[in-house]
Amino acid sequence: MSQGLVTMSYIAASILFILSLSGLSQQETSRRGNYFGMLGMAIAIIATVFGGHVTAYAILAGALLIGGTIGAFAAARVEMTQMPELVALMHSLVGMAAVLVGYASFMEHSSTLIGAEKTIHELEIYIGVFIGAVTFSGSVIAFGKLCGKISGKPVMLPARHWLNLIMLIATVFFGYRFLAGAEAGAGLVPLLIMTAIALVFGVHMVMAIGGADMPVVVSMLNSYSGWAAAATGFMLSNDLLIVTGALVGSSGAILSYIMCRAMNRHFLSVIAGGFGSAGGGEAAEIEGEVQPIEAEETAALLRESKNIVIIPGYGMAVAQAQHTVNEITKLLTSQGKKVRFAIHPVAGRMPGHMNVLLAEAKVPYDIVFEMDEINEDFPNVDVSIVIGANDIVNPSALNDPNSPIAGMPVLECWKGETTIVMKRSMASGYAGVGNPLFVLENTRMLFGDANDRLQALLKALQS
Ligand code: NDP
Repeated sequence: MSQGLVTMSYIAASILFILSLSGLSQQETSRRGNYFGMLGMAIAIIATVFGGHVTAYAILAGALLIGGTIGAFAAARVEMTQMPELVALMHSLVGMAAVLVGYASFMEHSSTLIGAEKTIHELEIYIGVFIGAVTFSGSVIAFGKLCGKISGKPVMLPARHWLNLIMLIATVFFGYRFLAGAEAGAGLVPLLIMTAIALVFGVHMVMAIGGADMPVVVSMLNSYSGWAAAATGFMLSNDLLIVTGALVGSSGAILSYIMCRAMNRHFLSVIAGGFGSAGGGEAAEIEGEVQPIEAEETAALLRESKNIVIIPGYGMAVAQAQHTVNEITKLLTSQGKKVRFAIHPVAGRMPGHMNVLLAEAKVPYDIVFEMDEINEDFPNVDVSIVIGANDIVNPSALNDPNSPIAGMPVLECWKGETTIVMKRSMASGYAGVGNPLFVLENTRMLFGDANDRLQALLKALQS
């Protein structure tokens, strides 16, 4: 393949990635966005493989076969509820790749380049390995937290900000030693020390974040993985990897910002780690009587209602109840009722989790509303059905300053006439916080597996 053709392919792939991102920003166009991304990636791989840089085709074919098989196997087996863990694991691989490419690059080029070119290349390596190592260890911890292997609670060392500062200063110091030492062939030790520091930094940063703040970590690590890929692109002098990495890095950063706004957190404190811990005292105990309800009574209530809002949460994903929800929605709508969905930005376990599930079940997009679009309308709502959601409808976020989720905007369903909460028990949600919504006077608890109960509700509505 000629160099001109490779450049053309890279430009085409970059344009397709941009179109992919823009497609993914809207539910209606997200499928098309995915196709653009797939096509772009196929072009990128073909151009890279046949672009003249690769000579060891047998090794490449072996790596593609092993990697592809593992990837296909993991993707086929993963449950929708395990997607965030898989994504975190994938981010860690991007980080690890940046570290390995950094070391390989250092070993390969350190003796052949000279002058400013050498210094720039070494700087690329140093920064690339740093970002890669932080992404790697941070993503591994995020994976552990998301799949419950590590406690989701924030673990904060007493002088954590000082520790972060010391690690940052040490990184700069060893960077200086690396650049100076590399001339004399002694750059490996500072590089190794910095890698160890960066690994500790990644662990320390993500360990300090927990509970309801995890979505910000997921999107932040997504952004880091993009920058790690861009750094790899610099080290390998691959323009497409730089562009793609920058696209992922910046879109991840924008998503982190949106998530921060949704959680009412500050972006800078996210980067410093250790945010989201409540201010001091004990969170209030939840006291009161729970009022259970059955599917038949719920159906009767819905028959009387005109304005219904459905609030899906993580439990809907666990129960895979989205198809039954869609059936119920169609039935109620056909009876002339106004049915809408209210989506909290951090519902579920990954950004856009609920939108994906509802789209899968073919729920029309025009009845799916963001929190900001629907929150003020709750006083006009007859019945809100909360399906396996907990933290995102917790009033203590607004009225208990000591709650670990204090300050987080939530869906204010209790302002409607009646709220039906569907869940299996009185267990708390991801943030581990009690929810006073369950004992409010206008709340009824419909206990059981969400899909099971919704099937019963559908049957009752049909009869
Ligand atoms: P929560 O985790 O707060 O609550 C989910 C509820 O679903 C649980 O209380 C559980 O109660 C119930 N549930 C579980 N399985 C079932 C089932 N089969 N049938 C019925 N109910 C079920 O989820 P939310 O969506 O309300 O909030 C998301 C939380 O996750 C937030 O704290 C958010 O910060 C965090 N998070 C979000 C991420 C994101 O990117 N969106 C990423 C990481 C964390 P029970 O056991 O009693 O059934």
